[in-house]
Amino acid sequence: MYYGYGFDTTYLLVIIGAVLCLVASAHVKSTYRKYAGIRSASGITGAQAAEAILRRNGVVGVTVQHVAGELTDHYDPSRGVVNLSDATYNSTSVAAIGVAAHECGHVMQHETGYLPLRLRTALVPVANIGSNLGIWIVMLGLIFGLNQSLAMIGVYLFSFGVLFQLVTLPVEFDASHRALVMLQDYGILGDTEVKSSRAVLNAAAMTYVASAAASVLQLLRLLMLVNGGRRRR
Ligand SMILES: [Zn+2]
Repeated sequence: MYYGYGFDTTYLLVIIGAVLCLVASAHVKSTYRKYAGIRSASGITGAQAAEAILRRNGVVGVTVQHVAGELTDHYDPSRGVVNLSDATYNSTSVAAIGVAAHECGHVMQHETGYLPLRLRTALVPVANIGSNLGIWIVMLGLIFGLNQSLAMIGVYLFSFGVLFQLVTLPVEFDASHRALVMLQDYGILGDTEVKSSRAVLNAAAMTYVASAAASVLQLLRLLMLVNGGRRRR
């Protein structure tokens, strides 16, 4: 390929990003496994904890449901459903209760119109298009006669995907913060148990930090490719 050498070196950035994501994913899985074995003193399940939190906050129209899979827990605002996975719904562990409370943190963000969450929701469609199509447009711009304007359009499009990943960070950190405060304030977990839940939620947050870092590295790489193409022209 014409820009073969430049392509190879910048691809290192993508590999670094992928390694960061793998490390973060392995870390959250091992942390979850560790604290999934510690039963909470209250003996309530993740689902019961979520229901208690929603009740305490007077949230109406949001139900707690069981969803299949591993680490598939999420809040679906369009249906008003807190989806808790196999490992969370029926488990009485401090890990499960932490994750369930985190999803309720997202419910509270939604209920209170938390600004980063609104921004994140607004970015979803353009971010999806941008992160998939952006790279291809950059490559097209580079392959066909080094069309720099076309390549830069691809970079701009991809930036929306990066922005989405960055806006996700305050949303996730805030949901975990709300979760831990509520678990403590409502007496669902004791002080030591809250620390264990915090360890699980922090490990989960690192996966979002890793994917944000990976997309920033990818953006950097695209910029290097576009600028490298211009210099060689
Ligand atoms: Zn979350």
